[in-house]
Amino acid sequence: MAKAAKPVYSLHGKRVWVNGYRGMVGAAVVRRLQSESCTLLTTTSEEVDLRRQSDVEAWMAANRPQAVFLIAATVGGILANDTRPAEFIYDNLAIEANVIDTARKTGVEKLLFMGSACVYPREAPQPINEDCLLTGPLEPTNQWYAVAKIAGVKLAQAYRRQYGCDFISAQPINLFGPGDNFDLESSHVAAALLSKAHAAKADGKATFEVWGSGNPVREFLYVDDAADALVFLMERYSDELPINIGPGQVLTIRELAEAIARVVGFQGAPTFDASKPDGMPKKLLDSTRLGRLGWKATTGLEDGLRKTYAWFLENVA
Ligand code: GDP
Repeated sequence: MAKAAKPVYSLHGKRVWVNGYRGMVGAAVVRRLQSESCTLLTTTSEEVDLRRQSDVEAWMAANRPQAVFLIAATVGGILANDTRPAEFIYDNLAIEANVIDTARKTGVEKLLFMGSACVYPREAPQPINEDCLLTGPLEPTNQWYAVAKIAGVKLAQAYRRQYGCDFISAQPINLFGPGDNFDLESSHVAAALLSKAHAAKADGKATFEVWGSGNPVREFLYVDDAADALVFLMERYSDELPINIGPGQVLTIRELAEAIARVVGFQGAPTFDASKPDGMPKKLLDSTRLGRLGWKATTGLEDGLRKTYAWFLENVA
């Protein structure tokens, strides 16, 4: 692994705002920052509705964050994306525009915008590198979210170019971990299948249902590794190119379902519902740039799934 790039910004002693901290990623970034000797500022959507410009301006003027992890977003899995397009595009555009513009006006020193692997074209060569942004049509099931996230990447670039703001963006691959959303209507695949396998085991069923063909290929990253990468980039990266975070685990949805059955201790086999969408046939990130900066994931898939299942048993089941 490459030696870690030199720090370009220190969080030490800084007022650091993590929004969306009730969500899986925000909570993981807060956990990670506990060892950084900074002053943590957190907000939830009930405390500050980031879709309202005046609320954002008032909160930021009063609290004066110096560094911002822009993580808050309206998020969800393939079904939620496909059926709530207006929320996915409007909420995310409004959040990004309000926070990024107010960050400039209030003199924020560093801002990291969290994008998503969904920003890339459906037919992009795999694994997808950062230069593929805006080179082809998007995956239709999550195009609304993707358009909003692309706008966030472009906002960070534009404010860097025009105003010299040190705003960066990063796109993590599919994440899972403690604090994930386990609601079957809006969850992503790992949480959904943990929940379904658990219910099948508890009810003594022979099978649990997996959407689609089982053939899509995905890469998964444990959320605490993602949080570590975001903090790493905040302190060691300053450029307009967005950075992929994806050196996770590559497997088919079928293989994921089998791994989840093992972790849950479910003896039966998954079945596949072909009437549900597959989404992108393959979604993997080329994370060479992040690797060159000297960052690497450390949590294995089954280890991460076990920790997620333990959290689920304690907090959700
Ligand atoms: P995506 O990576 O943006 O497509 O997000 P998801 O995590 O929602 O879905 C990943 C893949 O898992 C897709 O091919 C889904 O069809 C498949 N999948 C299988 N079962 C489920 C499920 O119960 N929930 C979700 N969200 N996806 C599932």
